[in-house]
Amino acid sequence: MLNEQKRQSILEVLETQISKKRYEHVLRVEKKAIELATAYNVDVEKCQYAALLHDYAKEWSMEQYQVILNKYALDMTMLDYGSEILHGPVAAMIANEQFHIKDKDILDAIFYHTIGHDVMSDVAKVLFVADYIEDGRTFHGVVEARVLARQSLDSAIVYKLQQTIMFLAQKKVPIFPDTIKAYNTWISKF
Ligand code: GDP
Ligand code: FE
Ligand code: FE
Repeated sequence: MLNEQKRQSILEVLETQISKKRYEHVLRVEKKAIELATAYNVDVEKCQYAALLHDYAKEWSMEQYQVILNKYALDMTMLDYGSEILHGPVAAMIANEQFHIKDKDILDAIFYHTIGHDVMSDVAKVLFVADYIEDGRTFHGVVEARVLARQSLDSAIVYKLQQTIMFLAQKKVPIFPDTIKAYNTWISKF
């Protein structure tokens, strides 16, 4: 478990960055991440760090994103897809820079939490699934996702990727190529 003092120091800063509603989402993701990490024997503390910081930059402006993209020479094509795609990679840079988190599992988990990735560490898997099925989620399919998450993290990941791509196509919004790349990799595993 993450030391409560460290946890509170993160929450204090987090509170200044996101709305109350999103802050509560983050706490529910942390709760779910602890639950999944315990069930699948994954490092709970790492999963808590990843959960607490994953949406840190979700409400930032395009200008703020641009500064981080430039500073770390990140993929500029992400700018065409807005905050939905940018907030994970940017939060990973902030976790490193501002919270001094150097662990690659935690940083990658935050980086890829929206789009997924070909190779995902156990911490990344836990965050990817916890974000999707936390207790506040009510979308169509969440019940199925929760059932799958009890069977295996991998099956819930495939389901999330599949559902997300269908949802985005139905909404007629552009799909970031790496989202499709992750889908292609994971779908062939099942
Ligand atoms: P949240 O930050 O807790 O709301 O959850 P996520 O970070 O997982 O997702 C943010 C949003 O990004 C969701 O509504 C996803 O459907 C959406 N999203 C995921 N992949 C893509 C993509 O490739 N393109 C676009 N436009 N949106 C995406
Ligand atoms: Fe997110
Ligand atoms: Fe989230």
